[in-house]
Amino acid sequence: MDKFQALKGMRDILPGEVAQWQDVEEKARYFFEANGFEEIRTPLLEPTELFTRSIGEGSDIVHKQMYTFEDRGGRSITLRPEMTASVLRAALENGVLRNSKTSRLYYLGPMFRAERPQKGRQRQFFQLGAEILNAKKVEADAEILALVQGLLSFLEIPGFKIKHNFLGEENERQTYIDILKNYFTAGKSRLCEDCHYRIEKNVLRVLDCKMPGCQPLIEAAPLLKLSDESRKTYDAIRNALETRGIPAVHEPRLVRGLDYYTGLVFEVVAGGDLGAQDAVAAGGRYDNLIASLGGPAMGAIGFAAGMERVLLARQSSQSAGSRTVYVATLDARPETEQWLDQVLKKLYQAGRKVKREPSLHSLGDHFKKAVKAGARFAIIIGEMEVKNKRLTVKDLANKSQEEVTVDALPVYLAGHSD
Ligand code: ATP
Ligand code: MG
Repeated sequence: MDKFQALKGMRDILPGEVAQWQDVEEKARYFFEANGFEEIRTPLLEPTELFTRSIGEGSDIVHKQMYTFEDRGGRSITLRPEMTASVLRAALENGVLRNSKTSRLYYLGPMFRAERPQKGRQRQFFQLGAEILNAKKVEADAEILALVQGLLSFLEIPGFKIKHNFLGEENERQTYIDILKNYFTAGKSRLCEDCHYRIEKNVLRVLDCKMPGCQPLIEAAPLLKLSDESRKTYDAIRNALETRGIPAVHEPRLVRGLDYYTGLVFEVVAGGDLGAQDAVAAGGRYDNLIASLGGPAMGAIGFAAGMERVLLARQSSQSAGSRTVYVATLDARPETEQWLDQVLKKLYQAGRKVKREPSLHSLGDHFKKAVKAGARFAIIIGEMEVKNKRLTVKDLANKSQEEVTVDALPVYLAGHSD
């Protein structure tokens, strides 16, 4: 019989690599919350129209990447390709925006897009992102970029670069769209099939095409001329970034793949192991989207980072295990289990991660496992330890060993960690 395989572009994350995922997830949660953001979790499935209306017919996502199907009641539903629309739907539906306060929300979770799988590009992928709803202009623009900069630094992404551009107001964009339409239509024969479609549906997206053949025409394309008002806003954002010490560069042809952006848009690229898929995060302001989904007229701004790309870009793979404590039990007697419960509780309170291998009972095998897990400490609970009400704690880095009471454990670990 044929063996089953995961669907194309959908990967299993196996025990060996999961520590890296948990590390990034934990750090991201900590960072978002420390910056005043609250987590929101929404369903993976949404009514299709939520995405077609927000992301736009002209986007690659709606045009050809959505997993859309009919449910048993004949309704068209879609696996979320991104989170902004879902976050807004949830905020509006649950009255989060009712008292017109600013809401800071973050999310972590899988997204689905039917695109050609490559390194850093999958059909099920994972995003971490944040939105500021009812966001003040300039202030919130600088805040979100500071958040992106802070998060990626906190996650130890080496050498990333923030690029931004300003898309202006509706009328400025419309004028620009007309100019681009003429320009690209004239050079149509030098553009790919997808770009032909984009010229009709959303010509700005041609600027976002990654096909090498399209680049010469794109590089020579006319630039958006901002009104005095927009230029002032953009300058103010850039000043605010400078004041906050956030390095970011203007990229005149940067547009984003979704239709709903207005004003500031940005992208973060990194090196590392990323290759062609070098965008680790992207986002922008979307001042008309809340109203277009039936909510009040209020501006918002957000970003999303791709987890797979964050992991590829990260240098430090060793830091994931440094907080891990390996706990070895040498038998499974009820007294041992009771003692173990207390130890686990203490370790949790001390903010440690625990690694265990319940089916092992030989000390030598336990140590091998502990080293393999990258744990800094191994705690041994054997017959003697239970009798003496003391733990044997081995510092695997210094190869030293000490007997410690459960109560003294957090202080011991803190004192011996770097
Ligand atoms: P790209 O230009 O690489 O296709 P995008 O413009 O479609 O990216 P966004 O929709 O802005 O990307 O999503 C934000 C981030 O999510 C991207 O910068 C990237 O890190 C990640 N991402 C997007 N699509 C995928 C995918 N199919 N697989 C893995 N990560 C992805
Ligand atoms: Mg894409």
